Amino acid sequence: MIRLALLLGFLATGAWAQADGRATVTASDAHDRWGGAQVTLGLSRAVPWRVFVLADPWRLVLDTAEVDWTSLDPATLAEVGTPATGRIRAGWSRLVLTLPGPMAVGRAWMETDAGPAIRVELTDGAGRQGPLNPRSWDAIAPDAVPTVERPRQTGDRPLVIALDPGHGGVDPGAERGGTTEASLMLRFARELAEVLRREGHEVVLTRDADEFVGLRGRSTIARAAGADLMISLHADAVRGGGAEGATVYTLSDEEPGALAAEIAQRHGRDDLLLGAGQIEQGDEIARVLIEMARAETAPRGERLADALITGLSGAGVRMHKRPRLGGRFTVLKAPDIPSVLLELGFMSDEGDLRNLMSAEWRARMAAAVARSIDAWADSDAEEARRLRQ
Ligand SMILES: [Zn+2]
Repeated sequence: MIRLALLLGFLATGAWAQADGRATVTASDAHDRWGGAQVTLGLSRAVPWRVFVLADPWRLVLDTAEVDWTSLDPATLAEVGTPATGRIRAGWSRLVLTLPGPMAVGRAWMETDAGPAIRVELTDGAGRQGPLNPRSWDAIAPDAVPTVERPRQTGDRPLVIALDPGHGGVDPGAERGGTTEASLMLRFARELAEVLRREGHEVVLTRDADEFVGLRGRSTIARAAGADLMISLHADAVRGGGAEGATVYTLSDEEPGALAAEIAQRHGRDDLLLGAGQIEQGDEIARVLIEMARAETAPRGERLADALITGLSGAGVRMHKRPRLGGRFTVLKAPDIPSVLLELGFMSDEGDLRNLMSAEWRARMAAAVARSIDAWADSDAEEARRLRQ
């Protein structure tokens, strides 16, 4: 089994205490200044490094050739944010510092006069003048952002289930007769959450109000919660007749069929349709990490989709004629969480819309989804136990 090196927040416990050859932290400080912030990291020797900023939420990411973080005192950076540190793969370390808001890297350099030190000057989004380093504003493979390592579920603790009601805020999704996909999905997500919580699971909603959440932010929320799985909920409208019933999508790089392509297109303004080009060229570490994680997670997501198809059809839910589809959906790109996108039905279909508006139908749907999750979790746990031996 491939072991992930995504181990943020882990080093604080001293898990990597002193191995040889690594640079150590000799000093650190962070100052919140008018128009930005400054962060300094003194090291026992000069090392290769790079720095960038990620959005959703705003974080400064500093990658270095391997550093032993044990002597970093988080309090020295507290004026700007909370640091988390870890190793991202053999030979590379990462420090992530939460930022109080939108910032960009104005200037970053390594000083060598009085002992090596990396200095980063951050500028406020609001106070900036002219174009900033585009690299720092790019969401550089946010799925590469390390998360707290959480053991794969083996059935001995409640599941943490991320439910992602599609759209919201400035993005209402599909609209029919004064009802929006965003509001319908929020309602269903809350109802499903209640069912799942009653069964003893933990549930995190990526939004619990009519508000806009970026697609990458949604998987970030799921990852921050340590979610064991994520289900994105939609009920889009499509042109042309004939599209009816539930469909389940998993991430796929294959050429999408007409329906998958249209669904993805409908979310295009929100960046839902993205190819592998999103990963910055040259960001080799990120690419390798993501591929490793996906190789392990993708089959688990596929099985979650299969379990949903079985569970929903078994409960008599109306299914699309080709219910199991693949698409390039950003929201499915958390590399370490089995994720599926469930289209409950099509708002463009009268029958489906009536179902979606019916409390009774939604209750049946929620029960069927919950049973499908349980069925998946059982076989997933069994596999995890088998792999452990
Ligand atoms: Zn949608």
